[in-house]
Amino acid sequence: MCGIVGYTGFQDAYEVVINGLRRLEYRGYDSAGIVLDRENASFDVAKTKGKVDDLVAVSENLSGKSHVGMGHTRWATHGVPSDRNSHPHLSNNGKIALVHNGIIENYDTIKIMLTEKGFTFQSETDTEVLVNLIQFFMDMDASLDFPTAVRFALNEVYGAYAITVMHDDFPGVLVVARLGSPLAIGLGTNEYFIASDASPFVEFTKEAVYLEEGHMATISLEKGVDIRTIKDNEKIVPQVQELKLSLEQIEKGGYEHFMLKEIFEQPKSIHDTLRGRLLVEEGIIKMAGIWDHLDRINKAQKITIIACGTSWHAGLIGEYLIEEFARIPVEVEYASEFRYRNPIITENDVVIAISQSGETADTMAALKMAKDKGAFIYGICNVVDSSIARITDAGSYTHAGPEIGVASTKAFTAQLTVLSLIALKLGKHKGNLSNQEFMRLITELEAIPKKVEEVLEKTHDITKEIAKDFVNAQNFLYLGRGYNFPAALEGALKLKEISYIHAEGYPAAEMKHGPIALIDENMPIVIIAPKQGHYDKIVSNVQEIKARKGKIIALVNKGDTQVSSMADYVIEFPETSECFSPIVASVPLQLLSYYIAVYRGANVDQPRNLAKSVTVE
Ligand code: GLU
Repeated sequence: MCGIVGYTGFQDAYEVVINGLRRLEYRGYDSAGIVLDRENASFDVAKTKGKVDDLVAVSENLSGKSHVGMGHTRWATHGVPSDRNSHPHLSNNGKIALVHNGIIENYDTIKIMLTEKGFTFQSETDTEVLVNLIQFFMDMDASLDFPTAVRFALNEVYGAYAITVMHDDFPGVLVVARLGSPLAIGLGTNEYFIASDASPFVEFTKEAVYLEEGHMATISLEKGVDIRTIKDNEKIVPQVQELKLSLEQIEKGGYEHFMLKEIFEQPKSIHDTLRGRLLVEEGIIKMAGIWDHLDRINKAQKITIIACGTSWHAGLIGEYLIEEFARIPVEVEYASEFRYRNPIITENDVVIAISQSGETADTMAALKMAKDKGAFIYGICNVVDSSIARITDAGSYTHAGPEIGVASTKAFTAQLTVLSLIALKLGKHKGNLSNQEFMRLITELEAIPKKVEEVLEKTHDITKEIAKDFVNAQNFLYLGRGYNFPAALEGALKLKEISYIHAEGYPAAEMKHGPIALIDENMPIVIIAPKQGHYDKIVSNVQEIKARKGKIIALVNKGDTQVSSMADYVIEFPETSECFSPIVASVPLQLLSYYIAVYRGANVDQPRNLAKSVTVE
């Protein structure tokens, strides 16, 4: 949520910051801004409501002017997206500039205090309060150096932040801090980069320091990177990490949108998630995170899965998988609800958090709570070394690669892949699965990337055609049973997110308890109806829809006749065991949403009001 880029070095800071912001735009995109610092001149600032392209339109004259600067793409929390509320924010004396990702929760009390002291405010943001608080400390004590003033101010605020601050009297110095929102420092030769993730500087350096929670750093060419704790100013030795990210991974590679590229990457991302873990010839699943804690997890009285959004849907499928194979009771909770009620969690419980970014604020807070209650906490994240990955007792990464499209696709199917591995591993270890059954299932799981490849090839053109007929739809229903009920929820979410068409997912049998009232000849209904599981029941549901003239888009297995004969549109996907069918069935649903959104002219990669990596509550 929100992207921050900073630079000090020998290159044109404008170019580095603008190009960096473009790569981080997926994190927030309602406004953008830049500030450059030149010796013996006051700050050059440009900011605007809108995208990075809009910023470029009002700031091109700043190109080539400076070697020090920083920028921001915003996802508004306090105050509407507007030029004024865009970052950077300047202090009243115009000497301090600040960009911020997160929320300062006690901003209003500080604002009252500062207003009483004569400060005025141009914006409605919480951020502007923080930059003025820094000025306040410097005004109070003229001998205070800039980083210390930042530290004093940070010790007065609570909430979540990643910030970068510049002071006009300290050219070439960038002060950064983090609490709850990520920040990476790229270490180049005679240059330093700051960014919310490493993508803005990946072509310039492979060495980075990820700032830890509660740490701040003062960065300058003269003195390098000086890391301290915000609370006590204790010096910290930086842990330099080698970046694995490549430029190619974060570019569109010939696709029109990141989302389409990511949908097509799924055979590879699922394969990468299985690689080294699923050893079919040896008949084993080898996952360090699970392997080392098998007894602890298998003895769990209860497993609670906490997540938000798409990850929550993956969690529901995880519940079906783990209960079926491991026979351990599973509950799936929205992280935001879990943390604010008083859930029953004991040392005998296992809590699994699922988050693509590993930075989701609600999930992180819920995990901390579960940890305090003594539960064993396990993480399933896509971003290596993310906050969730670091606080969990153990975990498994999804190896989906960077996901830039805001609507999750390949991260979701990679999460399902990890959950399948975990469930099968636990089931085998507990003796619930015979050798033969285990071998059958893992052989099938190994074949999933191929099936996803097949479904991409076979359904791409069909979904594209079908989408044309639904460009003007106002509502959609998605139905599924068993494992495919959560897949229906995810299908509906995908459509909502990128096309802004209202869509609801339901268990197919629930339809008659309410949603059936909505069905008429204008209601499109996507129904996931693979051969296994509850096929006969689904056939009856389809008949009920047909009787009310609903427009049926059926996802069926190859060779299906019964459901297909009643459907208005048919999308075929290869057969698998029911437990893996959501992985395969989700792919045409992603394509259908994608093309409907494209035909409606929506910004598929950056849907309105959304942002990737939700680092606010
Ligand atoms: N709370 C700040 C604002 O509303 C920062 C939001 C963000 O993370 O982009 O401006």
